[in-house]
Amino acid sequence: MAMATRVRFAPSPTGRIHIGNTRTAVLNWLFARKTGGEFLLRLDDTDTARSTEAFARGIVEDLEWLGLRPDFMFRQSDRLDRYDAATERLKAAGRLYACYETPDELDRKRKRQLARGLPPVYDRSALKLTPEEKARFEAEGRRPHWRFLLEQRRVAWNDHIRGPQSFDFDSLSDPVLIRNDGSYLYTLPSVVDDIDEKITHVIRGEDHVTNTAVQIQLFEALGATAPDFAHHSLLLGADGQGLSKRTGALSIESLRESGIEPLAVVTLAATLGTSETVHLPENVAELIAHFDLARLSRAPVRFDEAELRALSARLIHSLPYTAVAERLTALGVGGGEPFWLAVRGNLERVAEAAVWWHVVNDPVEAEADDPAFLAQARTLLPDEPWGAETWRDWTNRLKEATGRKGKALFMPLRKALTGLDHGPEMSGLLPLIGRERVIERLRS
Ligand code: GLU
Repeated sequence: MAMATRVRFAPSPTGRIHIGNTRTAVLNWLFARKTGGEFLLRLDDTDTARSTEAFARGIVEDLEWLGLRPDFMFRQSDRLDRYDAATERLKAAGRLYACYETPDELDRKRKRQLARGLPPVYDRSALKLTPEEKARFEAEGRRPHWRFLLEQRRVAWNDHIRGPQSFDFDSLSDPVLIRNDGSYLYTLPSVVDDIDEKITHVIRGEDHVTNTAVQIQLFEALGATAPDFAHHSLLLGADGQGLSKRTGALSIESLRESGIEPLAVVTLAATLGTSETVHLPENVAELIAHFDLARLSRAPVRFDEAELRALSARLIHSLPYTAVAERLTALGVGGGEPFWLAVRGNLERVAEAAVWWHVVNDPVEAEADDPAFLAQARTLLPDEPWGAETWRDWTNRLKEATGRKGKALFMPLRKALTGLDHGPEMSGLLPLIGRERVIERLRS
C-alpha cells in the first residue's frame, strides 16, 4: 500500500495570508484531500520580532473561512529543542561551521570578488580559523553565525510540476542556518519539521527552488530521505507585474470584507495556472475530484481581481438558500427562500440582499413620474393570492388597456414600486412586496 500523503502549509505569522500564499494552501489542501492524506498547518514563527499571536489567529481564521481546515497544526517556536538537536548533529558531522565576519566585512569581500569578475560566493575562510583566532573573536565580543557546509555535487529531483530538476552549487554560498543571536533562519527548522512530521510532499512556490536544493542536502545530512517536491509558478498581477506590492490589498481578510465568496477564491486558486477555463463547481468535492498537480503549468500566472469578483458574483447567482440562510439572518434579512431566490441573481455580494430587503419592506421614495398611468395600474391589479405569474398578468392587462409596451410600460412601475430604475426581476419582487404595499406605492 502506498504511504499516506502528508503535506503542510507553512506561512509565517508576520502578516495575514494573501492570494499568493493562499494558492499554495489550496494546492496543498486539494492534494491531501485528493490523495486521502493529511493537511498540516505549520506556523513558521522563529522570527520572534515580527511574528505575532494576532497574525497567527488571523491565519487560522482565514483558512477556516476558506474551508481549508488543517488536520493538525503546530508552531516552530514550540520546537526549538528539536532544531538544537539537529544543530548538534550537523556540528558533529562537520557540516555546520562558525563564522565571525561582520556584515560589513562580508560586503567588502563580495565587492572585491565582483571587482575581479568572480561570483560573490562565500570563500569559506572561517573554516580555516584556528582555535586561538576564534577565541580572540569571542574575546572581542563577536558571536558566531553558523553556515551549512554544502557538498559540491549536483542535486536532482523530479519535481511534480517542473519535471526533472538538477542543481549545482558552484555559485551558491554556504547558507547561514543560525544567526549570531542564536536564532534560526527558515532553512533548517523547515527540514527538521518535515522529517519529524513525515511530510511526503512539499508543495510551494518556485521562489523556493534554490532552498529545495540546499534542503535536500540537509535532509541527507540529517540521515533522512527528502520528500517529493512540487514548485508552482508565482502569481502576477493583471498588469503582469509581481503581486507583492499589492498583497496588502489582496489579503484574504480584505477579500472577505469586500464580500467575495470563499468558494470563488478556492476555485480560482485551484484553476489558475492550468489550461482549464474556470468552471464553477457545485461544491468543493467537485474541485477535489478534478484536481491534479500535473495539470499546473510552469509559466507565471496572472491573477485578476476583477475575474475573482465576476466569479464570486456568478457563484452567488446560483447559491442555494441553505448556503446563505445564516448569513441572511445575521444581516437582518427575512423572507426565507422565496426572497433569496428573487434577489440572488442581482447580487454581487450576499450583503446586498439587505438593500432589497429594505426595498421590499420599507416605504420607498419615488417621484411619481406618471401619476395617471400609475392610477390606472392600480385599478388593474390582480386579486390575491399573488405568485410568480402575477407580474405578467398585471402588465398584460395594462398593455392591453394602454397600448404601452417595453420600457414605457415597465419602468414607471419599477420606479414606483422600488424607488429604483434597476434591480431583480419584478416578477419575483412583486409578490414579496404584496398587494397592500403595492397599492400604497402606486398612490404616493
Ligand atoms: N515559511 C515559508 C514561506 O512562507 C515556508 C516555505 C515552505 O513551504 O517550506 O515561504
